[in-house]
Amino acid sequence: MTIDKAERLHEMKHHETVSIMDIQFINMTKKDFLHHQLYPRLNRQQKCFVVTANPEIVMQGRAQRSYKEVLQSADFVTPDGAGILLAAKYLKQPLQERIAGYDLMLDLLNFAHVQGLRCYFLGGKDYINEKMVLEVEKQFPNITIVGHQHGYTDINDPMLIDDMRKAAPDLVFVALGMPRQEQWIAHHIDAFQKGLFIGVGGSFDTFVGEVKRAPQKWINLNLEWLYRIIKQPFRIKRIGKAFEFIFRILLKKS
Ligand code: UDP
Repeated sequence: MTIDKAERLHEMKHHETVSIMDIQFINMTKKDFLHHQLYPRLNRQQKCFVVTANPEIVMQGRAQRSYKEVLQSADFVTPDGAGILLAAKYLKQPLQERIAGYDLMLDLLNFAHVQGLRCYFLGGKDYINEKMVLEVEKQFPNITIVGHQHGYTDINDPMLIDDMRKAAPDLVFVALGMPRQEQWIAHHIDAFQKGLFIGVGGSFDTFVGEVKRAPQKWINLNLEWLYRIIKQPFRIKRIGKAFEFIFRILLKKS
């Protein structure tokens, strides 16, 4: 383990977490997380790896040891999904609130705009990635976009990594879907001097309007997952994993 990684893991122990299937979820509100953890780190230019984990991610970690280690190497894992909150409640260690990747991305973009930070956008389809950049330029003109790359290419190409490193981003948004985005971050973060790295799944698609997010009412009712199945039926298999997750939590406790 590098000194850098050891320092990051040491710092992680200074906030309260709830353990679910060996993954330590932070137990704080999104506001506290941003104001007490992420913004200060960005101000200090301290490297940081954020995972926003839903039940499918936890189940993937259960099935694949190397992926679980990737999740465990993150500085912060946020609970992103109704199933995680339900599990925590059932285990009598309730989590304060859901912290979704899409919401974090919006808040971080806003902070980057106010502070004039440097951002890199990796992932998504070719045209989505292009649209993402145009839309960020329009909505957050004070952000310096230091580079972008769609996700249907060799994302481990050393030339790409070298270009990214030289661009010195403060924030790297990685939209490759799980488990690739977390694997990519864990694999490459050591090459960088600074930067907050976060896997944001399909957030670029949502931001540019290609995929609609559930209406706020559904989100408040913890039914965003149902909305996604209705809109994207191909997700049914993955949602099955979320049910298996709940089932396993119930089984273990009873
Ligand atoms: N993606 C990519 N390269 C790939 C596979 C997927 O860039 O080889 C992108 C895809 O275009 C989409 C995102 O990764 O924007 C995955 O979105 P999804 O909603 O499936 O995310 P998840 O639910 O896995 O977090």
